[in-house]
Amino acid sequence: MQIANHTVASIDYTLTGPDGKVIDSSQGRGPLAYLHGASNIIPGLESALAGKTSGDEFVVVVPPERAYGPHDPNMVQPVPRGNFDGIKEILPGMQFEARTPQGARVVRVVKVDPDSVTIDANHPLAGVELQFAITVIDVRQATAEEISHGHPHGPGGHQH
Ligand code: ZN
Repeated sequence: MQIANHTVASIDYTLTGPDGKVIDSSQGRGPLAYLHGASNIIPGLESALAGKTSGDEFVVVVPPERAYGPHDPNMVQPVPRGNFDGIKEILPGMQFEARTPQGARVVRVVKVDPDSVTIDANHPLAGVELQFAITVIDVRQATAEEISHGHPHGPGGHQH
């Protein structure tokens, strides 16, 4: 069966960045299951998987525009040091969960000054070109329930 809308595909993947370092992998966790056509995965990867079938192996390079978007400089902002009350030491690279009008999001510290802390609220992979090495493990028809939920159930998918 070919990967198309309303199919659930299970894939093994290794994600590497432009420097060749592994960012994420399904190794040790088992294949990732996703519902095709439901935006469960980034657009550049989803479109590369369309038409593939179990046993297919391929590598796809996904530009930021088809992955986590470009890096938005407006999302890098200084905030008062006092916002981090109770935290003794703040260092570049640390991550915090910030409450925003759009809900909780993870921000990273990029610079620490005596009175202010510069944080970056972009997705950590924003602006990054991603390379995926993919092996398609299985393709099956999605159930009506999975289609209505917008995600797959069972191994590698949602457990509920
Ligand atoms: Zn569900």
